[in-house]
Amino acid sequence: MNNVQPNSSPKYIIIGQGLAGSILAYLLLQEGQNVQIIDTPEFPSSSKVAAGLYNPVTGRKLVRTWLVDEIFPFLEDFYPQLEKELNAKFFHPQAIYRPFVNEDSQKYFKSDHVPDDFSDFGTLTFDNTKYQNIVNSQLGGVTTKHSGWVDLKTMLLAFRGYFLEKGILREENFSLKNESADQKIIFCEGFEGRNNPHFSYLPFNPVKGEVLDIQIDNIDLQEIINQGAFVIPLGENNYRLGATYSWHELDFTPTEQGKNDLIEKYQKLMKPSMRILSHRAGVRPATKDRRPLIGMHPENKNIGIFNGLGSKGVSLAPYFAKQFVDFLVYQKELHPEVNINRFASLYLSVDKV
Ligand SMILES: Cc1cc2nc3c(=O)[nH]c(=O)nc-3n(C[C@H](O)[C@H](O)[C@H](O)COP(=O)(O)OP(=O)(O)OC[C@H]3O[C@@H](n4cnc5c(N)ncnc54)[C@H](O)[C@@H]3O)c2cc1C
Repeated sequence: MNNVQPNSSPKYIIIGQGLAGSILAYLLLQEGQNVQIIDTPEFPSSSKVAAGLYNPVTGRKLVRTWLVDEIFPFLEDFYPQLEKELNAKFFHPQAIYRPFVNEDSQKYFKSDHVPDDFSDFGTLTFDNTKYQNIVNSQLGGVTTKHSGWVDLKTMLLAFRGYFLEKGILREENFSLKNESADQKIIFCEGFEGRNNPHFSYLPFNPVKGEVLDIQIDNIDLQEIINQGAFVIPLGENNYRLGATYSWHELDFTPTEQGKNDLIEKYQKLMKPSMRILSHRAGVRPATKDRRPLIGMHPENKNIGIFNGLGSKGVSLAPYFAKQFVDFLVYQKELHPEVNINRFASLYLSVDKV
């Protein structure tokens, strides 16, 4: 693998063409900025493994996720426009059916404790007529709105073609040596970011995950099913089943244990038999405070990072890439909960590179 140094012309050098780097580079281009992307295709990429789900409500009580009113309208505009620009289909808005996990959960959703505006994001059913031969759910459940999935593999391939056509993508390894004073280098390395000596002081907390692509015949599911595991319809009897969470053995190797966990979760959730087609693993670039890591290095203002998207890259990347572009180009403020300057004290306490 070659080590390349950027030439002097582009203002922004983006390292990594995963979800984060691709969207950031795209939005910088939209602002007329001069961009080069450097990506090592041989490196593992979380985006190529991800299920791509986005979902506005989380937890047992299905409360609204962080900044839902800003982030979700943004992504619902962003991805369809991007599809047009890249001439590819990868955005799949789809309801998620979430069976109640037990009677207490059903009781909660029948009570007055459910917020009045819950109907903005979900509708409730208290029986299982819709899925009685498909899903193990005698108590009913919630069907969410403003949810779906993004086919990241297709999107990244389309982005790759778009960047290659513009002549701004170099598929090589990057090492930082002689950066020029008027260039900004933004690291979007995903899980690899924690080994970057400039940003290794940041509190990454990577999480391994595994997914199975499976075949289920003759059920023609039109919604995503999610309880303990998710089952996403991909078309033509193919489905994606995920995902596991593990803080050990942080590598991209699928394991027997991961496969068996997913099979067990599937059998709890679904009634029809299934056949495994493929098995993949990746590492989510998650952080200790579960917020992205965005901003410029505390000392070297020409080096920045766009990382820490964790398990929610699909929903977080467009909104915060736009915010980062506004910060870089127009000097607007970054949200304090994503700005890496929240970890300035950690930087001061480590040995410097
Ligand atoms: C099993 C699993 C399921 C998931 N499911 C979902 C989901 O349903 N919904 C969701 O929103 N998110 C999901 N995620 C998380 C999602 O994958 C991430 O949030 C997102 O893809 C991170 O994107 P990224 O660009 O930061 O990192 P990556 O996708 O890892 O991209 C990093 C890129 O940088 C390149 N690179 C790194 N270092 C260098 C270097 N020195 N030089 C050149 N190139 C370099 C790599 O080659 C790679 O292309 C899942 C993840 C996993 C593992």
